Amino acid sequence: MGQPPSAPRTMSGSRARFDLGIVGSGILGCALAHHAAALGAGRILLYDRDHPCAGLSARGAGALDTSGADPWTRRQARESSEEYRAISTRWGLGAHRAEGELHLARDEREARRLEELRATLTEEGQRVEVLEADAVRERLAAGAPRGVRSGLFLPEGATFSTAEMTFAYAELASQAGVDLRWGYGEADLVREGTGWVVRTPVASFSAREVVVACGTRAPRLLAPHGVTLSALVERWQACRLRPPRLAAPFPSVREAGAGLYVRSSPGGRLVTLLRPENGATGDPPMDASADFAFLERVAREMHEVLPGWEESRVEDSWAGTCLTGPDGRPWVGRWPALPTLYVAAGLGGKGAAIAGAVAAKLARGIVEGSWRDLVAVDPARSI
Ligand SMILES: Cc1cc2nc3c(=O)[nH]c(=O)nc-3n(C[C@H](O)[C@H](O)[C@H](O)COP(=O)(O)OP(=O)(O)OC[C@H]3O[C@@H](n4cnc5c(N)ncnc54)[C@H](O)[C@@H]3O)c2cc1C
Repeated sequence: MGQPPSAPRTMSGSRARFDLGIVGSGILGCALAHHAAALGAGRILLYDRDHPCAGLSARGAGALDTSGADPWTRRQARESSEEYRAISTRWGLGAHRAEGELHLARDEREARRLEELRATLTEEGQRVEVLEADAVRERLAAGAPRGVRSGLFLPEGATFSTAEMTFAYAELASQAGVDLRWGYGEADLVREGTGWVVRTPVASFSAREVVVACGTRAPRLLAPHGVTLSALVERWQACRLRPPRLAAPFPSVREAGAGLYVRSSPGGRLVTLLRPENGATGDPPMDASADFAFLERVAREMHEVLPGWEESRVEDSWAGTCLTGPDGRPWVGRWPALPTLYVAAGLGGKGAAIAGAVAAKLARGIVEGSWRDLVAVDPARSI
């Protein structure tokens, strides 16, 4: 797959020329390359400063749950889940598994929230089952939750591997003729007539149109061209636990009160994910490991919600900082003042769940000029 660092290939003895240059090969950039190639976008460059999946996409916990989000985001998650399922079924890649999703309510307020969620999802045509406390305990054979009043079960709820899916998209893009390059270092963008030069410390590439899909680095790449994105910064942390006894697979479990998310993962392990109260500010570091306070909080919440599981050994933990727009939505589309420049960033802490559908729509916008489905995430709303 693709090209590791080597002497840059050139055409006509000069800079290699592309119709579309994509900077950043996380799940969004790779999915975009795949969709753009399928729509006949011409010669496509997919470039990463490190290697494919070097950023946040290596850290995603694989939750496809966007139940707390707005209808547009939920729709993208459903469509993405469908696409991930198709890729997993057809190519055996991406680890999409529909084991169901169980939402727990442990107090009156949460019970009301679940009732609202039930009404919304039913209206959207999703299958949901309301569960009494006993039925919740039966459904969760892996360990009976404490103090549960009610539950909502989504049979179609699924999980996947963000990293595996990113590589799957990269592989499909590469097979479709996309030129994958990586490892020449940080790229920046230089204007060249109406087009662009993707400039790296080692090589430069010309592109008629360019997409900035480089995650948390997007604002930095865009700023010299007058594109200012005012971002919210969220820090997410996760850990993988191995409980002493485990009946797996089991549905993923969401307990919104504590902010706890638990899912089964291959090898009978669990992943939990908590969103901290507040994020960092400034230029987000690519912080690699979860902090001690987070692990303490996981132990406390596990004890509260899933007694018996707090004995679990922590196998691994990790963290990362995500950007999102002030309205909680990403920026995806053409930058109005620069018609050959596209932004694809700000996916936030639930971005992997929507990347497939968002990339498909962006590819349609670039190739066919159809932007109808991306109005909600138009980067122009930042102006
Ligand atoms: C702990 C944690 C758990 C998460 N869990 C979930 C989850 O369960 N479900 C979910 O939906 N989402 C989750 N997320 C969020 C999800 O991981 C991100 O939204 C998603 O991966 C973002 O993808 P991306 O392609 O936009 O960015 P990235 O994956 O960060 O890709 C950007 C790429 O651009 C490259 N790059 C950066 N700058 C440059 C440059 N100047 N030149 C060239 N290349 C450059 C980087 O090397 C990187 O490979 C989680 C995040 C964290 C941190």
